Amino acid sequence: MKNPPAVFSSLWKPSGIRAVSLPILVVITVFIAAQGCTRRSVAPVPAPSPSSSSTPYEKPSARTASPPRPTPPGTGPAPGSTAPKPARTDVVAEKCLIASNGHQTVTHEVGPLETVWRLSRVYDVSEEAIYAANNLRSGTPIHVGQKLIIPNASGMRNVIALYPSTRWKYIVVHHTATDIGKAALIDRSHQDRGFWYGLGYHFLIDNGTLGKGDGQIEVAPRWVRQQSGAHCKAGGMNERAIGVALVGNFNEELPTSAQMDSLTYLLRTLCSHYGISPQCVVGHRDVDGAATDCPGKRFPWASTRRCLVSP
Ligand SMILES: [Zn+2]
Repeated sequence: MKNPPAVFSSLWKPSGIRAVSLPILVVITVFIAAQGCTRRSVAPVPAPSPSSSSTPYEKPSARTASPPRPTPPGTGPAPGSTAPKPARTDVVAEKCLIASNGHQTVTHEVGPLETVWRLSRVYDVSEEAIYAANNLRSGTPIHVGQKLIIPNASGMRNVIALYPSTRWKYIVVHHTATDIGKAALIDRSHQDRGFWYGLGYHFLIDNGTLGKGDGQIEVAPRWVRQQSGAHCKAGGMNERAIGVALVGNFNEELPTSAQMDSLTYLLRTLCSHYGISPQCVVGHRDVDGAATDCPGKRFPWASTRRCLVSP
């Protein structure tokens, strides 16, 4: 059992206490799940703005703009490939992760390619309020590792932008094979291994270590830019599979219940939106030609599959 991260401790409630009053979004709610705080909305993703960091498509960082390095195996497309333009019809799916009965100020450490737009959705706080609380002018770029004050945060939500695409046919599930982790750390690690664009997965589900929430879904830059992954070369999966990793070593332990809740939500959301069959959700080790035991011998596939096929 891991303690909640310090920055969320004032918001944290024991699992199961999720019946909270929901803030009203200026979105069209498609459904509200029985748990009380699952939402899927058709709110438009903000249009791209080359001069603003307040969209899902931030300006490339100095790192991503640096000269290309040699391509190690399985690292995805060559630099220069362009991300699709975001459309106002993009769907944003949201689900409550940490519920709060009140509004509190929290500190958030910015992850790779995280934007003020995303943070405003995660904490249900306006972008303007976040800029003002941090003495930043609207549109000021933010950077990895920056600590931002989030005023009047009402808990925390997992927010997933669903971009138009017909390329995603599979989902490959991984573990990080580490006890602790967060996107910024693994991003650096994958850069050190020579992966262009760093973090090789599209999504990372945290386990409550290094200041991240237990079950927090971190959206990787590859997803925001709709780039190929660098997580499973076998079977051409880097090009046609969404890579989802959970922090943990599931040869040694089980994922946390919060991680499994978030994984189920993420898989169901992606399968539904992209028309991916539950049979096409596979573990890394199940891909022909992949010589690995990832996501670990103890990963609970049976319950995962039950959740995927249940209505
Ligand atoms: Zn793997």
